[in-house]
Amino acid sequence: MRQIVGGGVEVAPVVKSDAYRHGAVEVSRILANEGARWFCVSNPEEGIQLRESGIAGRLLVMADFLPFERKTLLEFGLTPVIHTLGEVPEWDRIAREREEPAFYHLKVDTGMGRLGTRAAAAEIIDVIQANRWARLEGLMTHLASPGEFSTTQTTDQVREFQLMREALELSGVRPVYVHLSSTVPVAYRNAAAWGNMVRPGLSIYGYVPAVKGSAPERALTVEPALTWKAAVLSVKEVPAGAPIGYGALYRPGQPARIAVIAAGYADGLPCQLSNRGSVIANGKIVPMIGAVSMDMTTIDLTTCPDIKPGDAVTLIGAEGDVKIDAQDIATLAGTIPYSILCSIHPRVRRVYVS
Ligand SMILES: *Cc1c(COP(=O)(O)O)cnc(C)c1O
Repeated sequence: MRQIVGGGVEVAPVVKSDAYRHGAVEVSRILANEGARWFCVSNPEEGIQLRESGIAGRLLVMADFLPFERKTLLEFGLTPVIHTLGEVPEWDRIAREREEPAFYHLKVDTGMGRLGTRAAAAEIIDVIQANRWARLEGLMTHLASPGEFSTTQTTDQVREFQLMREALELSGVRPVYVHLSSTVPVAYRNAAAWGNMVRPGLSIYGYVPAVKGSAPERALTVEPALTWKAAVLSVKEVPAGAPIGYGALYRPGQPARIAVIAAGYADGLPCQLSNRGSVIANGKIVPMIGAVSMDMTTIDLTTCPDIKPGDAVTLIGAEGDVKIDAQDIATLAGTIPYSILCSIHPRVRRVYVS
């Protein structure tokens, strides 16, 4: 990501939702060692967890906190994103009481229609200038459809943002950071959308979201960071026609060798993979058969007889030339890779290899 944006643009990796379930503390430590100075999280709990585990960098809390959490945010050195102008005087009051400026990033809604102020520039400038203890450090927005290359939504949002930025500048309001981009505008080198800070999330974990329309050539090449394996619990032979699992969703046409693996929907394996998903066993793709259950899934090992209980199969990852990634699973399940990764339950033990 750094090579693409160059030295003048701060890369602030997004480690919200426990680093898309890769483990926020470990991921942030690695990123800090690689020189990351800013980390983006969603809420105070996530920020506090990183602070308490020794992450010394700046922590931007992008989404959900409530008025009663303002003081806590400051006590832990977390930097809030403010979405409504009414918040600014509140932060100003707390900062004055603490006799310490409270730095914040202001989010403007340029067309995402989610968080962010929709106030006009003049009103924003008045509020910023009337509240000097609360100190505007960053101006940001979020793009709704960065991967949609057949509409003008992204360029419209970028233009809205630039107009706001210029209006602020004319009044002498110059935030240190201006930022708009998640993964896609970096991966596809849309430099107009970078400002001087970018907030990549999914790409940190080795994925670039699918895009639509006539996209330029992708600048970024990444490999999935995470491999997901499950243990084989049992292997057995069943006769042709034997019903497999809840609802007898599958009956093999011939005698089959089946295995039960220790991963189910409680671990984050989508139910939509019932009778449709695959795993890698001994370097071969083999099908899931029957329903994905809460803690177990059945696979057909007929083509791969040498697997035994205790062996591992790969749900996400590569064995030799054979690969399954979160995008493949998302496509089968009718969802997005974000959702597949974020659904991997905490009970699935994380093992960090370097
Ligand atoms: C989650 C998030 C990002 C990161 O998005 P990716 O598509 O994962 O790169 C960036 N900015 C904001 C405001 C977000 O909520």
